Amino acid sequence: MDRTLTGIPASPGVAVGSIHLLRWEVPDVPHRLVPDDQIPAELRRFHGAVDRAKERLNQVRARVEAAAGREEAAIFDVQHSILEDTDLLAGVEEFIRQQLAAEKAFDLVMLEWRQRFARHSVAMLRERVSDLTDVHIRVLSLLLELPDHDPVNLPKGARVILVTHDLTPGLTVQLDREAIVGIATDAGTRTSHVAILARSLHLPAVVGLRDAAKSLAGGERAILDGTSGTLAVDPTDAEIEQYRERARQEEVVEAELRRLSDVESVSLDGIPVTLRANVDLPEEAEAAHDSGAEGVGLMRTEFLVMGRATMPDEEEQYRAYRRVIEAFEGKPVVIRTFDIGGDKLPVGGFPTEPNPFLGWRAIRMCLDQPAIFRTQLRALLRAGVHGDLRIMLPLVVSVAEVRQARALLAEAEGELAARGVEFKRDVPVGVMVETPAAAVAADTFTREVAFLSIGTNDLVQYTLAVDRGNANLANRFTPLHPAVLRLIRRIVDMGEQAGLEVSVCGEMASQPIMAYALLGLGVRKLSVAPRSVPLVKRIVRSVSVRDAEVAATAALHADTAADAEHELLRRLREAIGDLAIH
Ligand code: PEP
Ligand code: MG
Repeated sequence: MDRTLTGIPASPGVAVGSIHLLRWEVPDVPHRLVPDDQIPAELRRFHGAVDRAKERLNQVRARVEAAAGREEAAIFDVQHSILEDTDLLAGVEEFIRQQLAAEKAFDLVMLEWRQRFARHSVAMLRERVSDLTDVHIRVLSLLLELPDHDPVNLPKGARVILVTHDLTPGLTVQLDREAIVGIATDAGTRTSHVAILARSLHLPAVVGLRDAAKSLAGGERAILDGTSGTLAVDPTDAEIEQYRERARQEEVVEAELRRLSDVESVSLDGIPVTLRANVDLPEEAEAAHDSGAEGVGLMRTEFLVMGRATMPDEEEQYRAYRRVIEAFEGKPVVIRTFDIGGDKLPVGGFPTEPNPFLGWRAIRMCLDQPAIFRTQLRALLRAGVHGDLRIMLPLVVSVAEVRQARALLAEAEGELAARGVEFKRDVPVGVMVETPAAAVAADTFTREVAFLSIGTNDLVQYTLAVDRGNANLANRFTPLHPAVLRLIRRIVDMGEQAGLEVSVCGEMASQPIMAYALLGLGVRKLSVAPRSVPLVKRIVRSVSVRDAEVAATAALHADTAADAEHELLRRLREAIGDLAIH
């Protein structure tokens, strides 16, 4: 039977593999009593499951350590030690002696522990809740003999398409990248960070499938098409061949686009448009450079932290930033300070919040944790001597935050000077304009910053009050809404008046009609995923900025995002035809 599930295309490419369901959630536990004479056997069953869970953790730890390093693997030590806690084990044994089945006894104790830790006055202990939850799931799955859902320890040689309800960036970086050939999730949208990360990892992905995880059994053969956003389950051999052919054609198109890497990014009417790359992982730096990008417009440093139990130290960060700066051989490299929070929570160490996107995120967290922030700033300043570094602050709402950040930057400089270490002075500091507050009051920033970079993923989310990761709202996430277009126009005008560089580094910049709208709104610098650099360059070279301005004016005066899209599409089609748009 052929079933094709349709979601949102999140990361291009086609993958054929077998479905691996990841249900990483605490299972329902039936209430069951054991007769007195079976209590010793039940105790042995419990300890057997704990031993197997520990063994599993050791294997996973070794695999993650080999693939990603010691720091990433440390979270598994924490989980291992939870399973050796004598109070916890004694609590479960006590319940089993009162005739509760092992799974029920363990479930009750873990629920109690998780609640106790969640309410703890010591922040570090509150943060252990996610480890307790992982242990809870792992041991219950063994006791209830549920299928193995481990996402980080797949059989050797497997080619799997990971299907899950939702995936955090923390879990994504830990995935077994050899075995996983594609990702499909029920939740998420194009701008959720799982999608962004999948693109960086070059893993085809479809998100927003809504109920795929429930409707699949696991083990089915499937084709995941991240370009069109479909997951075809149990395809026929003929269909698989068709997809292979499509993959070959895509490869040809990509090769053609790659040839654009050396040509100039200039519009038909001779206006130069700077294209830079968004880099999410330091390993991407060289490929980003080869895409033809004229620098890095956004490096998302928080991905250095995802999936780890502790923050990377100054030395490790220095090496990561230096790699990216050196790959670009003197071209501008904009590195953004940590944007932790929202949907980018590391595995341990940070509290969960009821409204993470309105919470302790990005610059807010950095200003409240000056030791973490100064460590990052020191690493950046040291790496700065190897090229043209610029520092960017995320999620600012007030220039007061810029002033505080600058004060910490001065302290970081003082610390390096005292150590006698070489570092770059007078590094330009700019801000991301990604909140309506920063957009409306852009003029309050312009005197004190070196550049503005519009983060449309968040600007759209906060302007339209649409959660960027909520699949149910995906069709309401409309960057062409007149409110967004007017804000962008305002930011460009304010930047121009102050003589500041204004760029766009959100996903909007990589989509043809939207890139066209941005050119028309006066944006002359775009930063996009490395793979999108040639695609956007092709658009730039095929259109005239004069025409784009006329189209953008029409879009600005449209009543709705749909009308704006219609105007832009009609004009872009006239200019370059249908094919190049998609
Ligand atoms: C944005 O918000 O548009 C942006 C580029 O930052 P991020 O996607 O990392 O939030
Ligand atoms: Mg953002």
